[in-house]
Amino acid sequence: MSPRIPISEPDLSGNEKAYVLECLETSWISSKGRFIDLFEDIFRNYIGVRHAITTSNGTASLHLALYALGVKPGDEVIVPALTYVAPASAALHLGAVPVAVDIDPNTWNLTADTVRAALTDRTRGVIAVHLFGNPVDMAPLQTLCRERGLWLIEDAAEALGGEYRGRKVGALGDVACFSFFGNKTVSTGEGGMITTDHEELARVIRRLKNQGETPGRRYWHEMAGFNFRMTNLQAAVGLAQMEQVERLVSRKQAIAELYRRHLRGASVTFSDVLPDTVHSYWMTSVLLNSEAAGITRDELMERLGREGIETRPFFYPLHQLPIFQGRMPGQFPVTEDVSVRGVTLPGSTRLRDAEVALVSRTLRACLSGDRVGAPHATRP
Ligand SMILES: *Cc1c(COP(=O)(O)O)cnc(C)c1O
Repeated sequence: MSPRIPISEPDLSGNEKAYVLECLETSWISSKGRFIDLFEDIFRNYIGVRHAITTSNGTASLHLALYALGVKPGDEVIVPALTYVAPASAALHLGAVPVAVDIDPNTWNLTADTVRAALTDRTRGVIAVHLFGNPVDMAPLQTLCRERGLWLIEDAAEALGGEYRGRKVGALGDVACFSFFGNKTVSTGEGGMITTDHEELARVIRRLKNQGETPGRRYWHEMAGFNFRMTNLQAAVGLAQMEQVERLVSRKQAIAELYRRHLRGASVTFSDVLPDTVHSYWMTSVLLNSEAAGITRDELMERLGREGIETRPFFYPLHQLPIFQGRMPGQFPVTEDVSVRGVTLPGSTRLRDAEVALVSRTLRACLSGDRVGAPHATRP
């Protein structure tokens, strides 16, 4: 049975249908067609960068970015220990060594300090993941990377619409990677984008995603590439989504604001947002305070699930995953703590204010020592 209040749903209320129908009626359904260019243009302008390149998904974007930056077997690539797995597995597939670093207890993001402590002479660069849409403190990281000759990739898959010191997320590193998976703020079903200001990197990435074919010379290959292309059908949806991006992002932010208000005084903690930073709130996520004893995070999720409210746990720390076990030395106390206490709440742009209130009320009722809430949800 699908939950009454899902964690997330695509919001396809604009020109999505009309544009997709145009693809079908004109038979431009593959990876050429006008929507590819239009989607890249609208995206590039929104982020404020020179190049936006569509890809087949966010993981492919990361793979392409790392490949284009020349990552080689044995190179060390720094990633936060708390992240979706994609940045680490992309590095792994190039034979590189993902090196996890701990996160900040308040922003839940990696920091220049945790990165600095992990640098070796094999470090080549850093993938800064803007977790849940909260922008990483980029300035000290940019400085560190510049000083050490490292590249800096933004994994902006969760952070479309976020801002840092007057610039959009996606314009803050050498390259940025986006995802348009079904639960992302802007979705094309599956899909991705790479943004960059670097002419040469953009050129190489465009070539790599298209089998390495030399532009202007069909079936001529000077480099081995991939097929990481997006279809015109997906770009049609993407364009229609980007036409509404301001509304989608501000609705996400409004939902987070409502949660903050309804959960004031409850035994949960929100992440800190740094000054001069705009959190895009892909998802509203909270930590269960330790003193909310009497209920564990997993019990809480189970209880909410029984009330028809879908939630998600935080990611497992990378170093605990079977694919990385024994290969990620170091201590990650903050990541481990945040990971077990974190829960993500429903955050679809289609969520009504009353539903945010209902989720908050139900959640409060589950927390011991907290008397606000519906009687049916009190502890057994
Ligand atoms: C969703 C996501 C990705 C992967 O994107 P896909 O399009 O699913 O391949 C990468 N990094 C982060 C942080 C994500 O949230």
